[in-house]
Amino acid sequence: MGKRDYRDEMIKNETKNINFLQKCFKEYYFNKFKHLESPLDISRREFGFMSFDSKMTRHISFINMGQLNAFLIQNVPAGIYISNSYYDFPTFPINEKRLIGSDLIFDIDLKDLNLPCQKDHTYYICKYCDNISNNLPSSCSVCKSTKIDSTIIPCGICIRNLKNETKKLISFLVTDFGINHKSIYVYFSGNNGFHITALEKDYFNLDSKGRTDLVEYLMGKNFSVTSLGVTQYKNNLKVKIPISGLSYGWRKRISKNMKLFNITNNSLQKYVNRVGGYLLFKKEVENITGKMGVKIDPYVTMDIHRIFRMPGSINSKSGLSKVKCNNLDSFDPFSDACLFEDDRNVDVDVKTRLEFRFKRKKYILDKCSTTVPSSVGIYLVLKNLANLI
Ligand SMILES: [Zn+2]
Ligand SMILES: [Zn+2]
Repeated sequence: MGKRDYRDEMIKNETKNINFLQKCFKEYYFNKFKHLESPLDISRREFGFMSFDSKMTRHISFINMGQLNAFLIQNVPAGIYISNSYYDFPTFPINEKRLIGSDLIFDIDLKDLNLPCQKDHTYYICKYCDNISNNLPSSCSVCKSTKIDSTIIPCGICIRNLKNETKKLISFLVTDFGINHKSIYVYFSGNNGFHITALEKDYFNLDSKGRTDLVEYLMGKNFSVTSLGVTQYKNNLKVKIPISGLSYGWRKRISKNMKLFNITNNSLQKYVNRVGGYLLFKKEVENITGKMGVKIDPYVTMDIHRIFRMPGSINSKSGLSKVKCNNLDSFDPFSDACLFEDDRNVDVDVKTRLEFRFKRKKYILDKCSTTVPSSVGIYLVLKNLANLI
């Protein structure tokens, strides 16, 4: 086939896929609207919608959930987003909205964890001919196109690591920032991560600069060894532990990691000398903060004018929903976040051999046409790993 033929074939497949998805999404927002979490103060929030051809429309508002429901059934968006900020005029342009305050939000995503297992379940898909490879090619081996997309099916290790990172974040928020556990809500993002929202009035009015400081602290960035009482001036090392001690926050984490207990100026000085002096000590502290810091997407938390995926809505990268996790340990995204009914089967063309778990069932699919429950079909089509027949 020539490049033009591949393109025609792709457009034909895409049209079929989108028609099928729109029908499923519409049914979801018609029959399962109750899954959408009614937001606090809905009329003060900005909504945004992503269409199936990836166009974003923002600055929309609703006075109640009924109005939103009607909008969804009429427009059937691929993605629904809501501001974490509250405004006097949510439909106005950003600098005229008049900000009231913003909830604290965090995004923990696989892309920021750099897990070694990721390469085993990442697929690279040619945008022209749908050819799939397991390693990133410089160009497609079939049609030579250089336009390559990638998609991930997270494995059990991925999910476990995401959960651990989420717990780490919660522990920081509770211990270091005094946020009540009960005001922290954890959601599965619907695709490759978790979203955390803290409804804490002490942080409601924190501006973007304050949120940036908070992010740096959480990620362990720019931590200064001076705060441990270690300084160097003209090659002279000076150690003087701060009066407030090393028993709190990062100071505690670092000294514990270095196994420094009942520490004195003298023992800290000895430790610095033992690791090879000021610069090597500084390096060691950087390694510890890098390792122990929380791997969040900084921009999500820093940006107070962001719109964030609405709880209960479908993530159009997977067909799974953004859902609240009441018990993070037992939460299984591939069953607890899959809210589509399996009232029918669909025929799909699978683009590559796949092995995955879905709704507590293991699937091993070869690169060929097959029949799967509709929820699996939705998942594979949205993951760009199958076409609807
Ligand atoms: Zn190709
Ligand atoms: Zn993995």
